Amino acid sequence: MRYLIVGNGAAGIEAALNIRKLDSDGEIKIIAQSKNHFYYRPRLIEYLAGDIDFNSLLKYDEKFYQEKNIDIELGLKIVNIDKENKVVECEYGEKFSYDKLLIATGARSFIPTIKGILKVGIFKFRGVSDCDEILSYSETHKDVIIIGAGLLGIEAANSLKKRGKNVTIVEYCDRLLPNQLDKEGSDILRDKLEEKGINFILGDCVEEVHGRAFVDGLTLRSGKTMPCKVIILSTGIRPRLELAENLGLNTQRGIIVNNKMETNIKDIYAAGDVAEHNGLCYGLWIPSMEQGKIAGINMAGEASEYEGSTIETRLKVTGISVFSAGIIGTDEADVYAYKDDIVYRKFFVKDGKIIGAFIIGDPRSSLKVSKAINNGDGIETLKELL
Ligand SMILES: Cc1cc2nc3c(=O)[nH]c(=O)nc-3n(C[C@H](O)[C@H](O)[C@H](O)COP(=O)(O)OP(=O)(O)OC[C@H]3O[C@@H](n4cnc5c(N)ncnc54)[C@H](O)[C@@H]3O)c2cc1C
Repeated sequence: MRYLIVGNGAAGIEAALNIRKLDSDGEIKIIAQSKNHFYYRPRLIEYLAGDIDFNSLLKYDEKFYQEKNIDIELGLKIVNIDKENKVVECEYGEKFSYDKLLIATGARSFIPTIKGILKVGIFKFRGVSDCDEILSYSETHKDVIIIGAGLLGIEAANSLKKRGKNVTIVEYCDRLLPNQLDKEGSDILRDKLEEKGINFILGDCVEEVHGRAFVDGLTLRSGKTMPCKVIILSTGIRPRLELAENLGLNTQRGIIVNNKMETNIKDIYAAGDVAEHNGLCYGLWIPSMEQGKIAGINMAGEASEYEGSTIETRLKVTGISVFSAGIIGTDEADVYAYKDDIVYRKFFVKDGKIIGAFIIGDPRSSLKVSKAINNGDGIETLKELL
């Protein structure tokens, strides 16, 4: 059996390792456009801050793949899949055959439509090369604007603050972490982050970036203008669908897969940030690994079903921990909260079950809360946290 995996991220690698557990003889080949071996993307934040070097991000070396008998080709971009002949084609014409194919091509940063968005000095933040470019360019510039106050934007702000930059985050919504916190939670986090020296402009957005070829300031929708030389986009991600487009794969936001991570085309699977399962594109590390594992098991001929992942996010910036899980801020839920000078916990309860929660400043209780949400427990399980 010839297994071909496009992408060496969390989903692709997890699939390969699970195939190998079940099929000791099959040919496993991973092809990735990335020139780097598999690295732990979430720790790029620490790399950007200068806390760790690139080697600390790497998980497996050449020897590991040799021992597992997995063939890995880096720096090769697949541009076409011929489903009739079961062949993939690379950018410079090389072709590889497969019996089972996994598309694990991840996502790319979303670039918003803003006047002047293509100027030099605007960066996305997705891979190690983006970090290197940001660091090298901002060496001589002190003021950095980050567009987007999601997890990545806040983490990046913290990393660059540590590098001595003046950082301002501009966010369209009226609150930070719009997917994880309600307004009250956001206000608490904002106060804590402002104390650390990060600036925020909420409820506004960048209308135009100024400068000839190079960024030299911007104008917000409110009319306010700001000087700046460096802009970092943290405005969300989009699944990389280009391989799916010519192939006739069913897509909506991502490539649609069933519980076995199968697409609508026989012997082609998808997993990770590129995949959409039950209407959800997770864009998160653990779900990517879980999907990769299920894809690998099914590709190797065993049966295993993906039932979805619990969405949990953790932010740990400048010593402030934020945990958020489940459904937040819905009007249909009863709300229970606890607040003191250090900790803020908020729980959302519907039909007697905890459906969501966020906690600021108390990392120790997150595991317990996470379990209570997963078990569908009632609020009495967490009474000591109220
Ligand atoms: C800075 C940062 C911090 C993050 N922090 C967290 C966090 O704290 N918690 C969390 O849960 N998630 C986090 N994430 C998200 C998480 O990293 C992703 O969900 C995860 O990496 C997705 O894995 P993947 O295997 O689907 O895709 P990726 O890791 O994106 O890998 C895709 C692979 O496909 C290859 N590829 C793409 N197109 C082609 C092609 N045409 N031909 C050949 N190869 C191709 C790429 O080169 C790459 O190897 C973070 C992401 C970033 C960028």
